[in-house]
Amino acid sequence: MSGILVVTEQTAGAWNRMSFETLAAGQALSTLLAKPVSAVVFGQGIGVLAAELAQFRLEKVIALEHELLADYTVDAATAALSWLVETQQPDVVLLPHTYRVRDFAPCLAARAGRALISDVIGFRVEDGSLVLQRQLFQGKLSADYDAGAAPVFVSLQAGSFRADALEKGTAVIETLTPVLNAAAIRQQPEAPFQESARAVDLSAAELIVAVGRGIREEGNIGLVQELADVLGAELAASRPICDNGWLPMGRQVGSSGQTVAPKLYLAVGISGAIQHMVGMKGARSIVAINKDERAPIFEIADYGIVGDLFDVVPALIEQVRKAKGQ
Ligand code: FAD
Repeated sequence: MSGILVVTEQTAGAWNRMSFETLAAGQALSTLLAKPVSAVVFGQGIGVLAAELAQFRLEKVIALEHELLADYTVDAATAALSWLVETQQPDVVLLPHTYRVRDFAPCLAARAGRALISDVIGFRVEDGSLVLQRQLFQGKLSADYDAGAAPVFVSLQAGSFRADALEKGTAVIETLTPVLNAAAIRQQPEAPFQESARAVDLSAAELIVAVGRGIREEGNIGLVQELADVLGAELAASRPICDNGWLPMGRQVGSSGQTVAPKLYLAVGISGAIQHMVGMKGARSIVAINKDERAPIFEIADYGIVGDLFDVVPALIEQVRKAKGQ
């Protein structure tokens, strides 16, 4: 196979939604390079997942099945995907930049004698060569990387490509069994870490009101909670708010929190550090309230309100209530 291979991610039959952003990137790259794009899902009993992928514009979907892939381990994932890369010979391997991919992808690339170009946000062709773009120094610089010789291993930053841009199609499904040696798998998977039962899934929320350090103290969180309530939105936060214990960790958005893609993300007193923005820049509309007109959040906001949140938020609550006739 010369072309692009998209590696998707699932756990116990549930997709990591970044898989679909990576598929969208794969389709975009396939158009750019005029090469076919295929996808792989690995695990055990993954026929249903493979069938879901086959509904998109892909040349083929590879279901990489093995009992040693039933629970994720770095050794089995690396060995199975190395086997696949050797047998399929893709030009480019695209992966979502998830925690799991960070675990196995450097090893996967090294086994093929290549480097992993990680956390990529875009690509283009220049003088016939593929150029990959990634950010440095917390997003202050943007750097171009020559992709180099095939196979090229690339992980993509969350939110860089839109899953809703995925093109539909019909792909053939090929089920393959990788050659794996049980003795070479050194990890014993344990039961996955369980978040508390009441943890919110912000990734499914359509409206999010997020609060940052501009709120000053825990006692003021209620004001932003009230705004979330009148809008029917979930409450989320930047990391300092959760680090302070003012809101539970499950409500943190960003590189070490959840990745969200709501219809509306209303950021209240959040500066827009890169670690926060990677978690929410996939939102369809971003509204920011910040008293500093130079706050980086305004660079990605669709609507910005420069003002003191303690004036703006009560006024907004009042207006939303009026509009609802309350
Ligand atoms: P600040 O940067 O302090 O910004 C507060 C903002 O509020 C300012 O822009 C200020 O102008 C504004 N403000 C102040 N008072 C008012 C007012 N009265 N009215 C209106 N505006 C006001 N951060 C995350 O959010 N999520 C992560 O997952 C995450 N992961 C990280 C991982 C690593 C490895 C590291 C190193 C950092 C991580 N961070 C993360 C932290 C990140 O770098 C920032 O420190 C953090 O996002 C800043 O939060 P903030 O915007 O709430 O606070």
